Amino acid sequence: MSFMFSADHLAIRQHYADVGRELAEATTLHQAAFDFAGWRRLRDEGLWQLIVPSGPVDTTDWWGFTAALDGLSSTIRSPELLLSVIAQAGMVRAMARHGTASQKERYLSAILSGKVSATCIAEPSTGTDVRSIETSLAEVSDGYLLNGHKYNIAHAPIMDFALVVCRLEGREKNNIVLVMLDTGTPGMMSGPVDDKLGNRNLPTGEIQFQDVMVDRRCVLGEPGRGLSTLIDIISLGRLYYGLAAANLMEPYLADAMRYASARSSFKATIDSHQYVQRRLVDIRIGIERSRWQAYGALSQLLAEHPQALLSCSVAKLVGAEDLIASATSLVKLYGSLGYHNGPVTELMKNALGFASVGGTEEMHRKNIFNQMQRQSA
Ligand SMILES: Cc1cc2nc3c(=O)[nH]c(=O)nc-3n(C[C@H](O)[C@H](O)[C@H](O)COP(=O)(O)OP(=O)(O)OC[C@H]3O[C@@H](n4cnc5c(N)ncnc54)[C@H](O)[C@@H]3O)c2cc1C
Repeated sequence: MSFMFSADHLAIRQHYADVGRELAEATTLHQAAFDFAGWRRLRDEGLWQLIVPSGPVDTTDWWGFTAALDGLSSTIRSPELLLSVIAQAGMVRAMARHGTASQKERYLSAILSGKVSATCIAEPSTGTDVRSIETSLAEVSDGYLLNGHKYNIAHAPIMDFALVVCRLEGREKNNIVLVMLDTGTPGMMSGPVDDKLGNRNLPTGEIQFQDVMVDRRCVLGEPGRGLSTLIDIISLGRLYYGLAAANLMEPYLADAMRYASARSSFKATIDSHQYVQRRLVDIRIGIERSRWQAYGALSQLLAEHPQALLSCSVAKLVGAEDLIASATSLVKLYGSLGYHNGPVTELMKNALGFASVGGTEEMHRKNIFNQMQRQSA
């Protein structure tokens, strides 16, 4: 077992770290709009070619993609584009593993051309409790009729197509169905961009479905078995949230090390005080445990290991907790300067979004406990 990137993957990592640095310089604070230029840049760099299957021989390279995400997230300084990339990677996995030939043809080419997808799970009445979703699919003679409401959906205001999680009417059990819909489908309406504390360049919003006619060919995977298909798809995102959370701290930690070696108090630079060292060390520990947990979870997920789902939840959970704790700690390390509006307060606002994007702490703890019970049975 080896978790070392190959020389090719290290080159990919380095390349995307350079791209991330350029994107960070191009992004101005408080831009509050989706970074279409950055998105196109990643497409043009060939990011999606790493994981979109092409031709009869499987050329997909998930570790290569992970190396790219690793590099990008270690220099970009702001999570929005990373969250978009992670959502889109989940869509690639959804198509590659569960799509029909025509769905693959349609949506994987859309991804390669830079179209933006949305994954619509959360609802105003049932955010955490996916089993209780109310968005419904009613069978009619020539397909289904879709009605419902989603909220907090990344890309909803700008998306080109969406995966929508619904409940099949008239079935008590095995009733979750996933459907693929294109923007512009009659009856499907996106709301305005949410006004969030942070992650303002990641537009989230509501989507309403009013008597939307859904062709049977739009169903992704087996109707009724949507929950297990969904878990298979979102598990990848969970571990990537952990990886992105870990790497995001890297440039801020480097800045903090420099600051602490230059700022003096009590006739010494503050990095000579052990309490300050502890802050820096704890951030390093957070980065390392989150990153290695994410690598381990990916390794298990790709190998379909029985513990993969548990590990993906752990990766999401520790990544989010470490990022939030580290960002808060940085505010304190910089003293009153840390409380001035600027890069560190932006980081803290963005970090707090990791508490709910990809599932809350409580939901992941519940999931981890369920997996533990399954394993002990
Ligand atoms: C930046 C961002 C992007 C997002 N993108 C998407 C997206 O693309 N697609 C999507 O579907 N969703 C997305 N979300 C929404 C996210 O998935 C939900 O916010 C999350 O699932 C929690 O749902 P909720 O906000 O409705 O919280 P609620 O379900 O209302 O929960 C409120 C609180 O109660 C706790 N709680 C609820 N039930 C339990 C329980 N049984 N035991 C213990 N505690 C419990 C929760 O953990 C939470 O702390 C995004 C969120 C953010 C912040």
